This record gives sequence, C-alpha cells and structure tokens, in this order.
Amino acid sequence: MSDSRPSSVSRPRIGEGRIGAFLCAAIGLLSVAAVLCLRFPAFLTTPELRPHYDVELLRLVLAIAMIAGAGLGFLSLALGGPRWRAGIGLSALFLAMLLGGPYVPTADFQQPSVYLGLDWMVLDLFFTGAIFALLEAIFPRVRPQQLPLREGWQLDLGYFGINHLAIGVFMVVSAHFAHDIFAWAVNPWFQAHVVVLPGIVRFVLVILAADLVEYVTHRSMHEIPALWRIHAIHHSPDAMDWLSGSRLHFLEPLVTRSLVLVPIFLLGFPQDTIFAYVIFISVQSVVIHSNIRMNLGALRYAIVTTQFHHWHHAADQEAVDKNYTAHTPLWDLLFGTWHLPADRWPLKYGTIKPVPGGMVGQFLHPFTGAVADFREHRSK
Ligand SMILES: [Zn+2]
Ligand SMILES: [Zn+2]
Repeated sequence: MSDSRPSSVSRPRIGEGRIGAFLCAAIGLLSVAAVLCLRFPAFLTTPELRPHYDVELLRLVLAIAMIAGAGLGFLSLALGGPRWRAGIGLSALFLAMLLGGPYVPTADFQQPSVYLGLDWMVLDLFFTGAIFALLEAIFPRVRPQQLPLREGWQLDLGYFGINHLAIGVFMVVSAHFAHDIFAWAVNPWFQAHVVVLPGIVRFVLVILAADLVEYVTHRSMHEIPALWRIHAIHHSPDAMDWLSGSRLHFLEPLVTRSLVLVPIFLLGFPQDTIFAYVIFISVQSVVIHSNIRMNLGALRYAIVTTQFHHWHHAADQEAVDKNYTAHTPLWDLLFGTWHLPADRWPLKYGTIKPVPGGMVGQFLHPFTGAVADFREHRSK
C-alpha cells in the first residue's frame, strides 16, 4: 500500500516536455471524441445535454484546443519530451482533422433508443480533469509525494470513460425502476406542497432524502457479503485522487442511482431542484476523493468533506465501516457510524486482500470466488 511510484519516476517539471506531451495526447484524443460527437450526435450525445449546447461556441473551443494541442506536441518534441506520447497526440489531432475537425457538418436526426454519453465524458473529463489536476498541483496534498499520474490511473480513467458512456443505460434503468415500481405511491397532494417550498428548502430536502437512501444502500454493501464483492472494487485503490472515485463496478451506480431516484420521484421535485442536486453531487463526488488537504472547520458537521470520505476509504482499523453518507454526515452522526479525527488523515487506503487488478477481473469479481471470504478484503 505504497503512496508513491518507484523513485526513477519523478514529478514532471516545466521545460522537460513531459507535461506538453501528456496534454497533447489528452487534447488529441478528446478532439477525436468531440468531432465524432458532432458527426454522429444521435448515437454519441446525451439528449438531456443537447438543448444546452451552443454548437458554434463548441466549434470555436475545439479549434482553439486543437491548435493548442498541436503547439504543445511540437514544443514537447523540441524539448526532448516523450516522443510516443506527443506522437499519439499529434496523430490523434491529424485524425480529428481528417474527420472534419471543427468544421465537421451536423445533420438533423431522429433520436435512436440507444446512445452513448460520449459528449458527457468529453466535457466532464475536459473540465473536471483540468480543474482538479490543477488544484491538486497547487494546494497542499494529503500525500505530498503522490504523483499526478499515480499507479493505476489508466484503470480509473477507463472506469471514468465507461461510467460516462453508459449514462443512457443508468438513466433509463433508474427512471423505469422508480416510475414502474413506485407509481402507486405518488401522492399529488403531497407533491403540490413540496413544489411550493422555497428553493433552498427543496435543495436541503433532496440532499437529505437522497443521502438517507445512499446511507442504507452503502451500509448494506459493506455488511452483506455478496454486495461487498461489488463494492470492494470502489475500495480497491490504495491512493486517492480526483480520478480514483471513478473506480466503481458497473452494477454499483446502476443499483445506487435507481434507489436514490425513488424518493426524488415520490417527493416530486421540480427540474431546477434536480438540476442543482445533480451539479452539487457531481462536484462533491470528485472533491471528496481528491488529493487536496483542506480543513473546513465546523462545516465538517454539515457536509461530507474530503477528510471524511478519505477516512471511509481508510484501511486503518479505527475507520473500518464508518462514514457511509455521501453528501451530509447527518445520518452517520445519527446512526453512530461517524468517524472524523480533527487533525489526522488515514495512514493507508485500500483493502487487505487485493481485488483483481484488471477491469475484466474486477467485473467478474462479484460472480466468482467464495462469498464467505469477503471479510478478508476488509481490514477486520
Ligand atoms: Zn464503501
Ligand atoms: Zn469513495
């Protein structure tokens, strides 16, 4: 459970060409994905996001990003940076140009029943990745010696991609689960009273309701052996950063989102409340896994902080099966599972018995092996 890579790999510095080569590769691959989204919007973009796009602005951003990516790639080569990474980036940028680049035509289309959320993946990776990679470089880190591209980042990036591409599946399954199974419990009189509540009250209500479901679901995943084999994948990283929270077995977001949507559906929140809730949890889920050391003082009793969730991922004996909530620690405080030493951070993260390392092995993990050995994966 080391927190750093071999000493031969050092933190990249400006002027070596390593940062430029990495950025060129990242921008190149994202550009190919963006051009594909513009070319095949029916199959590769999310219907809920489409109305909010300014396509001309997106084309401009894409053009600027592609020019910047090419510039960084050539600069990296001139500085003697890793040729293979700059080569991947420049080849990807060339491919993006062949596919039409920022000028790729888009046509009218009929919405097919199946689509991939490639646009959601590109946008979230571009903005979240850029912002948090920068914040982790600037602000004091929980693990100062941990590198930006720590061991296992490729696996977590793969999970980030799959979980974003599959957003359509998650949304369809969770919406059907709530609407089809709980339609009988809808009370229009009750919902009419929820809609007229002040916005801030509705926001607090949606957070508390969703987090209660989150608490029960999450605790069940820790205490029921068959479910732990699914959730163990999320606890398998032995280093925490903005990307590590993406490591989730495919079944976990499917189950959790379906169950969380039930109280949201029954309470009948309007669209603006749900929008605020989705933005809040999207940012918070990245913040709480990040490698940024922050002390929020008394606020730690009101919202789930990075330190709070790092203790949830701790392999230290004192923190096993603690801190289940995702948004506010209220339910952990009420049910006696709150653990947050004021001035300390965990010494180590992960599971005692390692889960399989690759994505296929991790996907099969819940269905293979003896359920009875699940405690070996925990630090008890
Ligand atoms: Zn957990
Ligand atoms: Zn987590």
